[in-house]
Amino acid sequence: SAPKETLGFQAEVKQLLNLMIHSLYSNKEIFLRELISNASDACDKLRFEALNNSALYGDDAELKIRVSFDKDARTITISDNGIGLSREEAIEHLGTIAKSGTREFFSALTGDQAKDAHLIGQFGVGFYSSFIIADKVTVVSRRAGLEANQAVCWESAGEGDFSVEMVDKAGRGTDVILHLRDGEDEFLSSWKLRQTIRKYSDHITLPIVMKKESWDEEKKAQVETDEDESVNKASALWARPKSEIGDEEYKEFYKHVAHDFEDPLAYVHAKVEGKQEYTQLLYIPQRAPFDLWDRNARHGIKLYVRRVFIMDDAEKLMPVYLRFVRGVVDSNDLPLNVSREILQESKDIETIRGGCVKKVLSMLESLADSEDAAEKEKYANFWKEFGRVLKEGVGEDFANKDRIAKLLRFASTQSDTPDETVSLADYVSRMKEGQEKIYYVTAETFTAAKNSPHLEIFRKKGIEVLLLSDRVDEWVIGYLTEFDGKSLQSVAKGGLDLGKLEDEAEKKEAEQAADEYKELIEKIKTALGEKVKDVRVTHRLTDSPSCVVADENDMGGNLARILKAAGQ
Ligand code: ADP
Ligand code: MG
Repeated sequence: SAPKETLGFQAEVKQLLNLMIHSLYSNKEIFLRELISNASDACDKLRFEALNNSALYGDDAELKIRVSFDKDARTITISDNGIGLSREEAIEHLGTIAKSGTREFFSALTGDQAKDAHLIGQFGVGFYSSFIIADKVTVVSRRAGLEANQAVCWESAGEGDFSVEMVDKAGRGTDVILHLRDGEDEFLSSWKLRQTIRKYSDHITLPIVMKKESWDEEKKAQVETDEDESVNKASALWARPKSEIGDEEYKEFYKHVAHDFEDPLAYVHAKVEGKQEYTQLLYIPQRAPFDLWDRNARHGIKLYVRRVFIMDDAEKLMPVYLRFVRGVVDSNDLPLNVSREILQESKDIETIRGGCVKKVLSMLESLADSEDAAEKEKYANFWKEFGRVLKEGVGEDFANKDRIAKLLRFASTQSDTPDETVSLADYVSRMKEGQEKIYYVTAETFTAAKNSPHLEIFRKKGIEVLLLSDRVDEWVIGYLTEFDGKSLQSVAKGGLDLGKLEDEAEKKEAEQAADEYKELIEKIKTALGEKVKDVRVTHRLTDSPSCVVADENDMGGNLARILKAAGQ
């Protein structure tokens, strides 16, 4: 077998380790949550692979996680009998960071410890958090399906490198052994470990066992017995009645399913009965993940069937425009051997997905429409982080288009700031008497939109105009032709007809001007030749001498620019 080998960490891992140890020290007990979370994921993965290959269980089908400690050796061990790691997997998963956006993340770090501490939490620390309290970590792991002599021992002091070596291991799964730093002995306590497990990992569905302790009269102390006992509730959180679940429990569960470090922004938990019976526990994160714009990034819904984990990243359960939602769906009706291929075709899944979308939209509506300032603030936060993604729904989800339209927020000439706070309903409520359309302008940047000469007449008349400067806005507006019976109209298109907003005198004036300047217009037309379709006198300008306008049915200038930039 291969000899012991020493390998270097990916540069980002080194950076992460360094930062983490310093910035998360005040929160150090989270290492246990992270390692238990990984152990639980490893058991889920085994269950999933075993659906097609039950031999992977061998004679050890009772999945569990064990936490133990050794006072003399000053170690804590977290063990699982999950999927395990092969040598290659250990090198890959424990030596690099697989997350997309990793490089961008590290280049965003400022060097300011307080700021970076916040960022690092957001990035997620996972396995490497072991090094907050350990100065050496040993991982002994045997991949399910491999022989006892094909186990791997990975070891590192969390500095520049790690070693790997082939070893023997009796059972399948992983032992993570933490050799504590000086001064971290408080964790060598059954009480402290139990308390930490209950605090952060109570929701884990598998039993987390520790050795039971009992009072020893002679030693006058608690001593370990041979008997195992489960420390956590070990029942699926989402399957319990809502009334019995505390806010903290929901939040800790979120951190586990979402691999997030921060609390969620909002969540919804519901049991659905009817044609399809299922339970949904869905969360909206506070912050956009780094890979939000990577359309191949993982989605966040875990699928269970009657409490049995089936798969991560069940992308069929949530449309692309809600890809930021995290959580669990547990179906009572799907077959246990459901595969990704079956999901693609399944009508049942479509029903569940429809139900999930509705729940998420209701959750957003209740934040957006709330009278409560804190809830409103949450919606503003949501919009800042995920608004651009939600917008995609206008074109993607025809059935819910109107509901999504109500959730949209825009910048407008009302405040003239780039803050997107104006809803279409707000706009409509402020429409001028006689105004029939919702006016907008699109441009490459907010500043360009705000300073568009097309706005002059609107500003003069005090008519609000939405200022759109997001790349997707052109596309969104293509699908959103009307709201509340009012059509959306670009101020940069066509012969501007302000309808009843124009008074007779103004119309007359314009006609007269057209007459008066006939000659000049002919001259300009000749000079510009093929470059323009037409030259007209307009009253849409008050300060600028002229502007370019797209014909009603032609592509707008901003869209033309976007397509050109995209090489089309
Ligand atoms: P994450 O859990 O977000 O993927 P971590 O840093 O916590 O990130 O873990 C990195 C990877 O190491 C995991 O994705 C997994 O592949 C592997 N890993 C960690 N712990 C275990 C374990 N107990 N059993 C099997 N694989 C593990
Ligand atoms: Mg993890």
